Amino acid sequence: MGDSKPPSRRRYEEQNPTVSFRISKEKKEKLNSLVNNLEVTKKEWFESIIDEESTKCSAVFQQGLTKGEKEGFEKGHAEGYDEGYKHAYQEFVAKVPCAVCGEPVAINTERQREELYNTVDKINLDWSAQPPLGTLKCNIQHDECSED
Ligand SMILES: [Zn+2]
Repeated sequence: MGDSKPPSRRRYEEQNPTVSFRISKEKKEKLNSLVNNLEVTKKEWFESIIDEESTKCSAVFQQGLTKGEKEGFEKGHAEGYDEGYKHAYQEFVAKVPCAVCGEPVAINTERQREELYNTVDKINLDWSAQPPLGTLKCNIQHDECSED
């Protein structure tokens, strides 16, 4: 037996597959009058619906993608900013030992900055230490320590 169709026919059928499905008699009649009124073949009508729907789908998809990207970028940026700020703060903010408890105090108020500035020449740096260590005597302290 085997396929006796000529190769060109086989190629054509491969590139143009059949779509078939059952629909109700009612719908079939509607379809017939529809394509009659539009003066198109069922094939043309079906193809135009496919094109129209996929354009709509890709527009909706693109819209969703753009919106998602924008939101993702903003969220990521905000999170990155917060994280970056937190990291930089921990890494680079000046800290001095608390005058009360000796634990590090981050210098972040104007009063503390002034106090530190006024104390700079009192810092006794030990340059042999890595990194250089200073013994600092100043009145900077944790808020909770100064309340006592
Ligand atoms: Zn303290």
